[in-house]
Amino acid sequence: MIAFKEVNKIYPNGVRGLRDVDFEMRRGEFVALIGLSGAGKSTLLRTVNGITEPTSGEVEVDGRVVGGSREDLRRLRGRIGMIFQGFNLVGPSTVQHNVIVGRLSHKHPVLGTLGLFNRRDYQLVERALDRVGLANKLHQRADQLSGGQQQRVAIARALVQEPSVLLADEPVASLDPVSTDRVMSDLRRVRDELELTVLVSLHSVPLARRWATRIIGMRDGMVVFDGTPQEATDTR
Ligand code: ADP
Ligand code: ADP
Repeated sequence: MIAFKEVNKIYPNGVRGLRDVDFEMRRGEFVALIGLSGAGKSTLLRTVNGITEPTSGEVEVDGRVVGGSREDLRRLRGRIGMIFQGFNLVGPSTVQHNVIVGRLSHKHPVLGTLGLFNRRDYQLVERALDRVGLANKLHQRADQLSGGQQQRVAIARALVQEPSVLLADEPVASLDPVSTDRVMSDLRRVRDELELTVLVSLHSVPLARRWATRIIGMRDGMVVFDGTPQEATDTR
């Protein structure tokens, strides 16, 4: 499903972002990526959707090497839902508008303008919002929602892509504990219901132990731990 094969990333300034990263994720795994700031978590996530190109080695998603032509990358990114720490919503726009934008990845890159959504697109939006418990917020402005609700809108936006993989980069870093648990349980539940492969970077080991099926620890661009939540102890 996702495979890292001896992946190295050296940035132009000489920083080693990734060192010999080599592991596989099966379909349906919920992996928490743990490590201090600068450990390489974002770099690793960015190599999965092709934003960052490895200096050596390969990343595969669904059996295909990440990279190739612009069209290859576009098709790949269509299968990968992205969730960010800062939600990346358009505040003054409605929840519906923010979620339907996720359908753009299925449209022709030039013709896929906002006017071209059809009934099925809108149905997918409602179903996705239903999955995160926000169907009643369809016509509300995104910036009138709490942080946790905004992140769940971002999850819905990723779901309407009908992805096979969800990547989330510190999705709960700016949320309070209650919102954090709701966002994590929504991620966990949609993974269960839709058989998604989920890769989430977190900076809390207890959080990872509570929600992930597998924990990968990173330090200095290297994988230094790979095991079950039971095997992971909080050593800080
Ligand atoms: P994390 O997400 O775990 O905080 P990052 O992947 O952002 O870690 O960073 C890993 C290392 O690579 C850090 O030393 C960081 O400063 C460096 N780095 C990240 N992005 C770039 C970049 N675009 N150019 C140069 N160095 C970078
Ligand atoms: P990539 O290889 O992922 O395309 P680049 O190496 O082109 O990334 O870097 C993107 C930009 O980020 C560059 O302008 C780079 O100088 C800048 N950058 C440098 N150091 C860092 C850092 N520590 N964290 C994030 N970005 C950085």
